[in-house]
Amino acid sequence: MTTVTVWNEYRHEREGGAASEVYPDGIHATIAEFLEDRGFDTRTATLDDPEHGLTEAVLDDTDVLTWWGHEAHGEVQDEIVERVRERVLSGMGLLVLHSGHFSKIFKRLMGTTCDLKWRNEGERERLWTVEPGHPIAEGVGESVEVPETEMYGERFDVPAPETLVFNSWFEGGEVFRSGCCYRRGAGRIFYFRPGHETYPIYHQPEIQKIIANAVSWAEPIESSTPSFGHSPNPPQEG
Ligand code: ZN
Repeated sequence: MTTVTVWNEYRHEREGGAASEVYPDGIHATIAEFLEDRGFDTRTATLDDPEHGLTEAVLDDTDVLTWWGHEAHGEVQDEIVERVRERVLSGMGLLVLHSGHFSKIFKRLMGTTCDLKWRNEGERERLWTVEPGHPIAEGVGESVEVPETEMYGERFDVPAPETLVFNSWFEGGEVFRSGCCYRRGAGRIFYFRPGHETYPIYHQPEIQKIIANAVSWAEPIESSTPSFGHSPNPPQEG
């Protein structure tokens, strides 16, 4: 069974206001619950847990890590970021959600600023499936409407995705590459845009479906361990 660690900064939801009404137990609780309902073995981890909940033991038992952060990216310890990065390079899957675009881990893995333009006016978003044959788009319609959201607009300063699965249109006219696939080392990375903390986007079944598909896609596969460096003996024939 695929083991998923759902990581959340978990600050907005404890500050009162809209985020605590939409996600009373935290965004991580909502994500873990719908993944559990879809057959994944889930646990949660948050910024204020010791080692941010991402101990070596937890990561040993994590096939896919999902990441949501926003206002406290700077509080994530560099040592833990490096630990997660090494795991991704060794094959752990990583889903970076919404404002996680500015997380240390995503920026480090991408190597670019990961900056974008934004406006939070509750505009409508239409998420278009541009690769309908991709596993992350399985069972997802031609487009998904998010009734109210924060706008993210291009340019999104990331490397060109290896596969772009979803593109977004916003009421104000901007567009955005909302579902981007990457590989780094043996690990698969999916950036997925929808999910601002004050809108019930993670309660929306089509969005849940996409995230669940992405977890399945990002699972590590059985593969050989490469050897590096001086190789004194040529491979034996026969
Ligand atoms: Zn946001």
